[in-house]
Amino acid sequence: MQKVTYAKGDGIGPEIMDATIRILKAAKARIQWEEIQVGEKVFLSGNTSGIDKAAWDSIRKNKIFLKAPITTPQGGGYKSLNVTMRKTLGLYANVRPCNSFHPFVETKHPDMDVVVIRENEEDLYAGIEHQQTNEVVQCLKLITRPGCEKIIRYAFEYARLYNRKKVSCFTKDNIMKHTDGLFHQVFKEIAQEYPDIKADNWIIDIGAARLADTPEMFDVVVMPNLYGDVVSDITAQISGSVGLAGSSNVGETCAMFEAIHGSAPDIAGKDLANPSGLIRGAVMMLNHIGQQDIAEKIINAWACTIEDGVLTADIYKEGIGRQLVGTKAFAQAVIDRLGKRPRHIKGESFTKDVKLNLPRYKRKPKANKVLKGVDVFVDWDGGRVDELAMKLKNLESDIKLKMITNRGVKVWPEGFEETFCTDHWRCRFEVENGHPAKKQSIPEVLVKALEQGIDVIKTENLYEFDGIRGYSLGQGQ
Ligand code: NAD
Repeated sequence: MQKVTYAKGDGIGPEIMDATIRILKAAKARIQWEEIQVGEKVFLSGNTSGIDKAAWDSIRKNKIFLKAPITTPQGGGYKSLNVTMRKTLGLYANVRPCNSFHPFVETKHPDMDVVVIRENEEDLYAGIEHQQTNEVVQCLKLITRPGCEKIIRYAFEYARLYNRKKVSCFTKDNIMKHTDGLFHQVFKEIAQEYPDIKADNWIIDIGAARLADTPEMFDVVVMPNLYGDVVSDITAQISGSVGLAGSSNVGETCAMFEAIHGSAPDIAGKDLANPSGLIRGAVMMLNHIGQQDIAEKIINAWACTIEDGVLTADIYKEGIGRQLVGTKAFAQAVIDRLGKRPRHIKGESFTKDVKLNLPRYKRKPKANKVLKGVDVFVDWDGGRVDELAMKLKNLESDIKLKMITNRGVKVWPEGFEETFCTDHWRCRFEVENGHPAKKQSIPEVLVKALEQGIDVIKTENLYEFDGIRGYSLGQGQ
């Protein structure tokens, strides 16, 4: 008996969870269920994290969590509980298989069979945001080498285990040379360890366009968090419905399984929701806990139900479906088919999960880190940039004012009048002679700025690592 923590969530959550658990029980899954409350009710009861200690204890004790979608209340500064759980439990790999079920579910892409592997802990989802001036807010994008290595290795191990032929990397490293650049660089390094698997790299915009247009070109795709969030919804939707895909969130000790869609408040409580995403998430869970026999039984019964044209409203079409059903009747139809095998839909193969095969991250030797200057960010709405530059010249020491940018574009020296400027200025002070900058030059800049009445809202140190510049140039520099 495996203990599993589950949460019914919000919106359509309770309906699709009831349907899923009924099917698992009918299939005799060897599971002891433990329910917890998380989500909207917990948020609105005054617990701003959406989860209490008893719920955390249950998940950490059982280590396996089946979760229905959760509503993040709008406004009030509530953080997404999904993101909190994925990050707090170290669930770094989000695996979202999206394949079509042509001709039983209408799709423009009868042959698609793509697995989106999304980095689950980093990127803009760190949720570190600040308002810095009247006009400007920022969100910090964090990409780490351990984060990249773990997810990219996971993607290649997954491909090898499931006999997939190619892993594609999606980034925007033509623009974000340091953050997405690191992801791409690590992809190139790790791909070399897997010569049996093809590897290619796509700029996310054209990669996503090709994936939406010709998904047969792709097999496993791996990408940073935000892109993976967007691309996996698109991939699920073009396979037939966002209601079809399940996902696993896998870490070194815990794992969470869910549907990829949200709580669909527009159809909640109406017995309209397609429970397939959560059912398929639960099947991934059964595979993960070593109950491949039950996983196969359920996925086969589910495929028979789809083949028989018993469909929920999101995928039902005249001429394709034979019986339009609600959530409960769909679950019953799956139960009625337990023990049957599909005639047309390819059976899914189940292989024990890959999480344990991954080596632990080994920290690289420390690079030689040399301070070269500082970017001083200033809140200023005083007029011409030349006036700001004149004031800033007074802050110079061994580090000299090299450039001022506004929203990343160089506006001094030799800016263009056409460039639109906000009240948020990045002012770069750098050494001139190639020597390291003195550490005390940075607090000195800040003290002098205070004396000059310049409103510094933050600084970023400029470093070289083993002689390689660790910061981007200004656009137009
Ligand atoms: P959504 O995925 O809930 O719904 C988008 C559309 O798809 C809606 O029209 C909905 O009716 C339909 N849909 C979704 N699932 C369906 C299903 N199983 N069967 C039939 N139709 C289905 O996205 P949203 O409306 O943007 O978000 C609603 C709420 O869900 C928000 O509070 C959001 O934060 C939350 N959310 C939670 C998760 C999660 O818990 N993992 C993921 C995404 C969004």
